[in-house]
Amino acid sequence: MAQPANSNTPLTLRRWLSRLANSGRLAVARPGVDLKYQLAAIAKHLDASKAVLFPHPGGHAIPIVSGFMARREWIAEALGVSGPDLLKTFRGATENPLPWRELPADQAPCQQVVVRDIDMRTALPIPTHSEHDSAPYITAGVVIARNPATGIQNVSINRIQVNSKDRMAALLLPRHLHAFFQMAEKQGKPLPVAVVIGLDPLTMLASQAITPIDYDELEIAGALHGAPLPVVKCITSDVRVPAQAEIVIEGHFLPNVREPEGPFGEFPKYYSAKENREVIQVDLITHRANPIYHTIIPSEMEHLLLGAIPREATLLAHLQRSFPDVRDVHLSVGGVCRYHLYVKLHKQHEGAPKNVICAALGSHYDIKHVVVVDEDVDVHDPRQVEWAVATRFQADRDLLVIAGAQGSTLDPSTTVASGAGAKHLPRHLQGISAKMGLDATRPVQYNEHVFTKVAIPGYDQVDLSTALAEGVDAEALKLFAQTP
Ligand code: MN
Repeated sequence: MAQPANSNTPLTLRRWLSRLANSGRLAVARPGVDLKYQLAAIAKHLDASKAVLFPHPGGHAIPIVSGFMARREWIAEALGVSGPDLLKTFRGATENPLPWRELPADQAPCQQVVVRDIDMRTALPIPTHSEHDSAPYITAGVVIARNPATGIQNVSINRIQVNSKDRMAALLLPRHLHAFFQMAEKQGKPLPVAVVIGLDPLTMLASQAITPIDYDELEIAGALHGAPLPVVKCITSDVRVPAQAEIVIEGHFLPNVREPEGPFGEFPKYYSAKENREVIQVDLITHRANPIYHTIIPSEMEHLLLGAIPREATLLAHLQRSFPDVRDVHLSVGGVCRYHLYVKLHKQHEGAPKNVICAALGSHYDIKHVVVVDEDVDVHDPRQVEWAVATRFQADRDLLVIAGAQGSTLDPSTTVASGAGAKHLPRHLQGISAKMGLDATRPVQYNEHVFTKVAIPGYDQVDLSTALAEGVDAEALKLFAQTP
């Protein structure tokens, strides 16, 4: 398995931040930045260039960090692999999970301090990020709950709005946590839950793995770390949380209670509408001595990449099972790392790209547009993909459109013709979307003077440090001066 950066001790958030700081990749803001908008605005300016630490945000004693996993190379570095091996490494971890290792409470840093008398409006420095957000939001809260029937955990990141002193509303998409909640609610029971804030990049990434239900993502985190993840039992429930976490909010989802949540600026760079959502009753908070709070700036690179890498790994594995000639996939940033999939194919049959398109569109409801390209196109470079569409694609022949499929409810162009907003429709009508596939591959057999990409022999061998003269050439300057 992968060797994480400095593999003798498991990677923690603090060790990762120290690594960033020691290599000029951690900015520190002036103390006392405003929690409302200002903090998010500064972090957004530094997006994908530097992580940023905010001391005393809004005058709060707990500092905030943001943007520490906002580049693909950083995530690969945290895993101890090179960029091209990122998806393979993540896939390997999902296929070879490592059970966690439980620590006694007195050895778990995340339980060094226990706070029982909670006011969520002041206990933690929770920012308000975007212009029309309804309230402060926890955006990097890793939510852990147990299947009420099997006891197996689920780990996910859900946006959480602070509603009052001890209540928060969360968005539960129709996935595993939502299934657990429905099971508990059907029996009229609360669902115990932990919201974990301040985790290392590998555990954050593991939380986004696309797996079947009853597959504890903390075991994937262990595989990514190359060692079982140390966990500790919550004080108020049987939920196990990463012992190295900075902050843990313990609580329970209330059965048969809903409270308004939203609007909130989401990953597609649009707002989700206000709706009645499931409610967490907060019981207590535990944290390290001098904890660090993590916030993710919505729709910026940290947010997008967290979703993209696990999805790409899953999509690549899924496609390669049926099509061994698929070489690589990429969820483009312009497609908010969810909607646009680029597929690199070693094409051997004229019909193969369309089969790949059908499989890709069916593999996840978020995938809206698929572009299949040849091996000479870098799927990580949107300019090259556009070049392939410009020069290898004919719409009457190479375009595939499917009407009325299930798409992302967060895509504002789905379903809605009236402008009323998809959120006002019943769930079974939300997010109805067309799908499109573009075969931007050249023919299997082609005239090499027609379809060969122009190349300059020796380009890759040029070393500019030896090819260029040092400084300004005096003879050349003289030449320009003489000919006005
Ligand atoms: Mn899951």
